[in-house]
Amino acid sequence: MGQDCIFCKIAAGEIPAKTCYEDEEFLAFADINPQAPVHLLVIPRRHVADVAEAAATDPALIGRIFSVIERLARERGLVPDGFRVVCNTGPQGGQTVKHLHFHILGGRFMGWPPG
Ligand code: AMP
Ligand code: ZN
Repeated sequence: MGQDCIFCKIAAGEIPAKTCYEDEEFLAFADINPQAPVHLLVIPRRHVADVAEAAATDPALIGRIFSVIERLARERGLVPDGFRVVCNTGPQGGQTVKHLHFHILGGRFMGWPPG
């Protein structure tokens, strides 16, 4: 589970990250390979693999993490211009880190459809 998980290591402070928010349950930090002027990742501290595991074990977590997401977006000046929240899920969804995370992207216009 958490042993080889890079986001568990960030949550444990074992590898560094540009942390911009933390509370008992969640952590937010800058994406190491930013795709927009603002590119943050918001994660639960607890290892949750993906949306399916969150839904099965603690569906209300999704609501709580979105409260953090909305607050961070506002603090970063992304409201009212807008921003994008992305949760890549599974191989076809492009999920490379198997610890639930939401991308907050903003500061530029976003294209649609996504790649
Ligand atoms: P995903 O492809 O949706 O699983 O997103 C994983 C994201 O984690 C990518 O945008 C990576 O750039 C980012 N990432 C990987 N390792 C780190 C790290 N050590 N610190 C910050 N972001 C990372
Ligand atoms: Zn993890």
